[in-house]
Amino acid sequence: MQSISPETIYRGNYAWEKSLPQISKLTKSPLILGRGINTNNLRHKIFIDLKNQKLSVNSANLQFDCCYEDISRIKKIISKNNHDSVIAAGGGKVLDSGKYIAESLNIPCITVPLSASTCAGWTALSNIYTKNGQFIEDFALRSCPKILVFDHKFIKTAPLRTLASGIADALAKWYESSITSSTINDGLVQQAIQISRVLRDQLLIDGQKAFNSEFENNPSWRNTIEACGLTAGLVGGIGGEKCRTAAAHAIHNAITQIIAPNKFLHGEIVGVGLLLQLKLEEMKNNNKLADQSIKQLMVLLKELSLPTTIAELGINVFENNNLEKIADFTCRDKSEIHFLPFEIHKRDIVEVITNFEQKKIKI
Ligand SMILES: [Zn+2]
Repeated sequence: MQSISPETIYRGNYAWEKSLPQISKLTKSPLILGRGINTNNLRHKIFIDLKNQKLSVNSANLQFDCCYEDISRIKKIISKNNHDSVIAAGGGKVLDSGKYIAESLNIPCITVPLSASTCAGWTALSNIYTKNGQFIEDFALRSCPKILVFDHKFIKTAPLRTLASGIADALAKWYESSITSSTINDGLVQQAIQISRVLRDQLLIDGQKAFNSEFENNPSWRNTIEACGLTAGLVGGIGGEKCRTAAAHAIHNAITQIIAPNKFLHGEIVGVGLLLQLKLEEMKNNNKLADQSIKQLMVLLKELSLPTTIAELGINVFENNNLEKIADFTCRDKSEIHFLPFEIHKRDIVEVITNFEQKKIKI
């Protein structure tokens, strides 16, 4: 069984308003799930619009992350008030929690991404973290959300940093899926990989323009947010679990184990993981193009004000056994790093990160 996409997708300006009739048919008592105070105004608008549709609405916020503690607390609220759907309105953590909660209660989930930082509004997957943001596991859901509302007017209000983060995460799709899955003899997987290549090309062409210019009537911005929020999800939907992530996400997951003073967004960490993946490919797989890709990506990441080293994520790998901890988690048994077509050992991770961080420090 494979769930390729949400059942219905509304996109563009006023997508939210256009979705209201269908939402009112689907649910009579939704719970709006959110998190950050920056998006309170948007969720308030969503709340009022649903009230005007004569729905009995309630709202709740995550206290921490997409973590089991918040998930069970929200599930209790839903059961107590007999809510018949979850409307998850926020970033990746909120969307992932909403999908997980809805599925475990057997009620529909409506995702309303409020930034282009991830494709979590689309996918049948929830990434679970601890309360402190340390990655625990990817949880595969039975299906994609019932309705996805990708309203450009909402996305426009998000901090620019979320757009940059979404670009880095979506770029990783090509570099990860092509190295793990290009030999799989499955037409759909191969087609998904090719979509991720076109997606990467589009982001290389439009990403910086989207980041630097006005949103209004800007096709680069439109293409970029939809690439990050929609197409990246489609690649996962078509490719399924065989279209796998690899080192970039494995390293991301390991970096989240180190609790740093400032929190970084998913894609900001994945971008650093991606550069390290390419270094590994160069070192262990004799990939002659990896260095070219690193140079090309480095320029874009810098233009997007994204971190390019673990140090820039506020972590000194040479302190507190951090390097050891990152290498351990990256190479643990169930890590995605082992989907790479060559063997990776802890010492490889230590070597590649040491070289990378030392070289950067000198610069
Ligand atoms: Zn990701």
